[in-house]
Amino acid sequence: MKRLFFLLFVLTLTIACAALAESAPQMAPPRPLETPSPTAVPEETATAEITATPETTVTATPEATAPQDIFSLLPAQMPTVPPQPTRDPGRLTGVKIGIDPGHQAHGNSAQEAVAPGSSETKAKVSSGTYGRFTGVPEYEVNLDISLQLRDALEALGCEVYMTRETNDVDISNQERAIMMNELGVDLVLRIHCNGSTNKSAQGIGLYIRKTGTNADECMRAAEALLPAMVEATGAESDGIFRRDTYTGLNWSEVPSILVEMGFMTNEEEDYKLNDPAYQQLLVQGMVEGICAYMGR
Ligand SMILES: [Zn+2]
Repeated sequence: MKRLFFLLFVLTLTIACAALAESAPQMAPPRPLETPSPTAVPEETATAEITATPETTVTATPEATAPQDIFSLLPAQMPTVPPQPTRDPGRLTGVKIGIDPGHQAHGNSAQEAVAPGSSETKAKVSSGTYGRFTGVPEYEVNLDISLQLRDALEALGCEVYMTRETNDVDISNQERAIMMNELGVDLVLRIHCNGSTNKSAQGIGLYIRKTGTNADECMRAAEALLPAMVEATGAESDGIFRRDTYTGLNWSEVPSILVEMGFMTNEEEDYKLNDPAYQQLLVQGMVEGICAYMGR
């Protein structure tokens, strides 16, 4: 559409110039070429340009509208392409990834076994932490980023399974793990944000099971994921932690990583975790980490 307007504009200018050249001998004084009539530029084009890309808008100065400068302006008027983790649409074909956006709108304090065969129990699911500066609950940020991660992975041909796609659900941590076991995914990312009484605590931390099924494989996946996430975001690395205290990890029979993307109790990270541009960096890092782990 813009190209059509541009061609119309050039055509109008050419006709105007030709008419001017013909009539020039009779006209006194001759009209300068540098100042075409304002009607030469359709208002619609100018308005659309301003709304679409304010930073690249070129004002219609006499120099800018001179015919010899039009082609040099063309690239600046082209629509910008949003950054994407990769342009290879088949990079993750055949890979099955599970995404568990941590928590839900309302916790469920009913108890469930923390591990298969264990007599120890924990609450089925909690509502998580919240941004101390933004006030945004963790379950919302987790879902926002998880949905973006799903889209980015699917764009690469990946088969993606979500434990939830809305906040108003009631699915326990054990149920989430069993769901992914039954789907037989290659890797589960459990998406979370951290919280601490230490307001300066920050960075990306990964939690994996210490013992049991796939413990070594989980470490291999975490070692691929963490550097990719740190590189993409510029965040600090909080490290890889091995724990046997998470129900969702203990019940998992497929490689599973609990990703703490940052601390909502840290002012800078709370704002970053709610910033769409930073969320995309986190997504990009996780995509690259998954690709590295899967050898893609
Ligand atoms: Zn959490």
